[in-house]
Amino acid sequence: MSAGEVGLCASCRHRRWVASGKGSRFLYCRRSETDPLFPKYPRLPVLRCGGYEAREEREGGPPAASRP
Ligand code: SF4
Repeated sequence: MSAGEVGLCASCRHRRWVASGKGSRFLYCRRSETDPLFPKYPRLPVLRCGGYEAREEREGGPPAASRP
């Protein structure tokens, strides 16, 4: 999934990629743990978000399946 398909979440410090047992990947928003206004699994792409905070490190899309 490209950064354009993910939107703001691609570079947000609050996102996590989670994998289902069937191999699909979902973007999980950690803001949802402390604020119910944020969905656990936001509909992508996210184009505007009041909770966005840039990651300090640069990362692309979801991690490769073979990455440890
Ligand atoms: S806070 Fe907003 S931009 Fe950041 S991961 Fe959650 S939904 Fe995406």
